[in-house]
Amino acid sequence: MAVLRCRRDPCGVICLILTYFSVFYADYVVIQYVLIPAYSDSVWCTLHGSVFNLILLLLLACHSKAVFSDPGMVPLPDTAIDFSDLRSQSSRMNERGCEGWTVCSRCETYRPPRAHHCRVCQRCIRRMDHHCPWINNCVGELNQKYFIQFLFYTGMASLYSMVLVVSAWVWRIRNERGGDAEKESEETPSKHLIVAHYIILLVESVLFGVFVMVIFYDQLVSIITDETPIEQMRNRLMIKDRASSSSSSSTPSSQLPHHPSHTRKPKLALLREVFGRGSVFCWLLPLHSSPPSVGGITYSALPDYDV
Ligand SMILES: [Zn+2]
Ligand SMILES: [Zn+2]
Repeated sequence: MAVLRCRRDPCGVICLILTYFSVFYADYVVIQYVLIPAYSDSVWCTLHGSVFNLILLLLLACHSKAVFSDPGMVPLPDTAIDFSDLRSQSSRMNERGCEGWTVCSRCETYRPPRAHHCRVCQRCIRRMDHHCPWINNCVGELNQKYFIQFLFYTGMASLYSMVLVVSAWVWRIRNERGGDAEKESEETPSKHLIVAHYIILLVESVLFGVFVMVIFYDQLVSIITDETPIEQMRNRLMIKDRASSSSSSSTPSSQLPHHPSHTRKPKLALLREVFGRGSVFCWLLPLHSSPPSVGGITYSALPDYDV
């Protein structure tokens, strides 16, 4: 599936290459131009180097899990099934306890509530958040945890590299003021190169840091409000439609179709649905957690229906 996505979305491939390049460039600059010159005589060199590389390792682990994991694809039917009856009999479906199950008009799968079709993956994804080119995959029910962890470690790595670069730059300026002129003139060609690397890494860290923190915040809000961006947009449109139709016609707004509201759950329970039932420490690790059974719906088995 990952290879197929690469063929369908060249932008996703470029973003993947850019991500790996940015990570390895940051590691190269931090070790070669920050830690070795500024902290080579102390234990801080090893300590900062180990912690920074551990963060990068976790970042790459979470990223690869988000890229290669199944986001929650709804299985395609084995045989071509005529769903025309089901499409027109939503009330009958409700009676059978299948409320919210729909048939996708594009891939023709019989999908659970909150599943949406992704045009890039060309499949329906359970609790689809969005298709992210940075992981070249959909963010859905089964890989949202890895995606959020990837954002978290990218934010941490950006902040850490900013602190290291600024402190090394300050150390360099102090040394230049107190150091002898001969040594300074010897270092002049490489000095420009070092400053260029510092500036590039700072710009990279600020851009990626701000970008991932905004998405990280959006992801947490979407979890604790139990509403994906697709659902937020759909609900906003429905409210707008309802307001315009109630003002233009005499139909009372209470008689208009109402979107299915999700059960109100505690914030911690909603977070556990994404990050698993383990301790908060486990939430930071890209470990597999048992898939949640939202609202008692088991996705592996299709409900009983007539065809
Ligand atoms: Zn579909
Ligand atoms: Zn997708």
